[in-house]
Amino acid sequence: MIKVVLKRTISSRVLGGHPWIYNNEVDSVTGEYADGDIVEVVTFDRKFLGRGYINSKSQIRVRVLTHRQSENIDDQFFYNRILKAWEYRKRLGYTENCRLVFGEADGLPQLIIDKFNNYFVIQTLALGIDRWKDVITSILVKLFNPLGIYERNDVPVRELEGMEQRKGPLYGEFDPKIVITENGLKFFVDLETGQKTGYFLDQQDNRKAIKNIVQGADVLGAFTYTGTFEIHAAHYGAKSVLGIDISENAVLQANRNAELNGYQDTCRFEALNAFDVLKQWGRDGRQYDVVMLDPPSFTKSREQVQKAVTGYKEINLRGMKLLKPGGFLVTSSCTNLVSPELFLSTISAAAKDARRQLRQVCFQAQSADHPIVLGWENTHYLKFLIVQVD
Ligand code: SAH
Repeated sequence: MIKVVLKRTISSRVLGGHPWIYNNEVDSVTGEYADGDIVEVVTFDRKFLGRGYINSKSQIRVRVLTHRQSENIDDQFFYNRILKAWEYRKRLGYTENCRLVFGEADGLPQLIIDKFNNYFVIQTLALGIDRWKDVITSILVKLFNPLGIYERNDVPVRELEGMEQRKGPLYGEFDPKIVITENGLKFFVDLETGQKTGYFLDQQDNRKAIKNIVQGADVLGAFTYTGTFEIHAAHYGAKSVLGIDISENAVLQANRNAELNGYQDTCRFEALNAFDVLKQWGRDGRQYDVVMLDPPSFTKSREQVQKAVTGYKEINLRGMKLLKPGGFLVTSSCTNLVSPELFLSTISAAAKDARRQLRQVCFQAQSADHPIVLGWENTHYLKFLIVQVD
């Protein structure tokens, strides 16, 4: 077995069980290997630390799969890990739709598997996990007898690993335009062309959190994508709902979703740039009872965090200005590098500029099928806040 020998001083991250071993943490590698191979990671004095896959093309040289010396990396290993991930979701009640495997948090670095009732979407974002794609596909067939498995590896990060981008069916003959049910509502999900794996499962619990505040309300939703929050608002008794998204295609889907649920008279969607129109509508003096914001990630780089914070402050300030006194702001951030504390302080700063006072209704994270590993930085990536704005 190839051995990757670490330097004498090991970072607390590695000691804490985080699976990433960076290039600059490696002292030497003994033996010949091909990128993607399973290797053993040992300390400078040759004590076993873990077993994982290697890639010399990546900044992260090894991603550890197991810290148990007795555990071999074979088909059974992947079966056990996927089964364990499924047991966890079932235990928490995520049986129909869920993120079945959330990469590192489920001990399967860079593997994403989303379950949409009888359909599955897979992403293998590192070479060492991509090698096991066929094994993983057969495990899903064995465990779930699915109608279809779709590969959404059209993700640029694969190129950093020396892999091409690709997408297409891996198992079954099926139309990738499917319908899922969430909280009793139906949504079209396009596994082939939808954003990410087709649907934002990470907000599934948060969509329920708007239940009371939207009753009888005039609601504005920005960054709506396929209208999930807005259709929930209509379902929970909103008087009127306007949703906006910059993507024409998202708006088309959102309007179809409204119709699918019989809310086409309550819910209207328009293709508009939220940054522009929120500003304009504020000047025009428009007022809503509830404003919901769910922008895309503003940055993935540490250097750009301040710019992201400025973006959050600006969009939330504009949202607050559109609220009647006592209205509710429902606001999210999926920027990994913006911590929950930083997000809260940014929203507070926006309120100060808007001369409004905030009362926190709830502050949540991504749904529990996207586990947060305590002690691992930035695994709590989604912040979801509801505040009453006086
Ligand atoms: N709330 C959605 C997910 C939103 S994803 C859900 O739960 O399903 C973010 C969305 O913001 C994307 O659909 C993207 O098209 C949209 N977007 C990005 N920039 C925008 C802008 N300037 N104005 C309006 N929408 C924008």
